Amino acid sequence: MPLRDHYDTIIVGGGIAGASLAYFLAERGARDVLLLERETEWARHSTGRSAATLCQLDPTETVLELKLIGGRFLRNPPPGFSESPLLRCCGTLTVFDAAGLQQEETRRPMLQRFGLDASFLDAEEVRQRVPALTDPEIAGGVWVESDGRLDVHEILSSCLRGARRLGVEIEQGCAVTGLVRTGERIEGVRTAQGEIGSRQVVAAAGAWNLRLAAWAEASPIALRPLRRCAAIYSPIEPAALAVDAPLVVADHRSVYFVPEAGEILMSPMDQVEMPPGEPLADDVVIAEGLERLALVAPDLRARRVRRSWAGLRTFSPDLVHVVGEDPARPGFFWLAGQGGYGIETCAAIGALAADLLTSGRSEVFDPARLSPARFLHNG
Ligand SMILES: Cc1cc2nc3c(=O)[nH]c(=O)nc-3n(C[C@H](O)[C@H](O)[C@H](O)COP(=O)(O)OP(=O)(O)OC[C@H]3O[C@@H](n4cnc5c(N)ncnc54)[C@H](O)[C@@H]3O)c2cc1C
Repeated sequence: MPLRDHYDTIIVGGGIAGASLAYFLAERGARDVLLLERETEWARHSTGRSAATLCQLDPTETVLELKLIGGRFLRNPPPGFSESPLLRCCGTLTVFDAAGLQQEETRRPMLQRFGLDASFLDAEEVRQRVPALTDPEIAGGVWVESDGRLDVHEILSSCLRGARRLGVEIEQGCAVTGLVRTGERIEGVRTAQGEIGSRQVVAAAGAWNLRLAAWAEASPIALRPLRRCAAIYSPIEPAALAVDAPLVVADHRSVYFVPEAGEILMSPMDQVEMPPGEPLADDVVIAEGLERLALVAPDLRARRVRRSWAGLRTFSPDLVHVVGEDPARPGFFWLAGQGGYGIETCAAIGALAADLLTSGRSEVFDPARLSPARFLHNG
């Protein structure tokens, strides 16, 4: 179907941020919505490069709250939303050295207040859960039973399917090359097929939100795309990790791992700032991560790395998502800063953004805590 020359809302980017917003907008009855994705394949960028985990424990309180909201949706989506379960609960186990555990203990009341099912374990209890964890530095850990592995493909395609069914127009292979501005207002986008007008434009382009914000001359929010690598490898003792073992985050060694179809998925938890683009995996960084992993669990040392990749995790200055209309540029709506939790928080953020775009307020979460204006008020 040919695109029209005007829509109410144009969403730029069809990763998990744009797709979940499209679904929630449609579900709230919004009409006249167009989603534009530059690539001809889905999930080519960050969304297709994640570790597919719901790990609700988070050092940033606001992000933790958003993960709890997102987790509830993924555990229990509305009837007919998806064709198969979105979450396989296998828990997560975050382990700490003595100093890290002491620090985490101070957060225990906050975790209880939010109702996260977090159990504090001592070193012996950690080893009972995952016997491969023989690192003498491990003083204890936090076990979260309701965490698990996500089916990212199913989440993304369910959002797109639902959005389409409810009337959202979705166009792949259509890059936005600029924004249309009239006075202070953003009033549409430029594409190779010409200009398309709209009342509001949503920047849901992951790391490329930097570019959209520059085109809009929007408020200066210093988004930082940080590269993170991951790899799938075979360990020397495959039987040392149960197939249904939880994701283990070894906080003190900066590495995490989880069983993946008979092999192990690991990340060296690197954070290297990069411009928007397609980062390559760094073999040295992965090898160093595997060395640290061997200290945590010697039986899980690598025999062979089968596949590696890297993706961008784009953070705002306070590590919390940026959601809302730009205070200085009406018509330009931020849906940015998904960081390392864009999949697990997508339902919370998508629903909140849809509320703001359709009614200007939300019961999902206090919009002021995610507003772009928070950076301007703090100078
Ligand atoms: C190694 C790694 C592990 C991770 N693990 C997890 C995890 O376990 N759990 C979790 O929740 N998150 C995880 N993340 C983070 C998660 O992947 C991101 O937060 C999320 O995918 C961001 O989604 P997005 O839609 O904002 O960005 P993207 O997926 O990058 O989507 C942006 C889209 O916008 C499109 N686009 C850009 N510019 C334009 C334009 N001009 N015109 C049209 N389209 C455009 C792009 O083509 C792209 O498809 C991980 C990330 C990495 C790299």
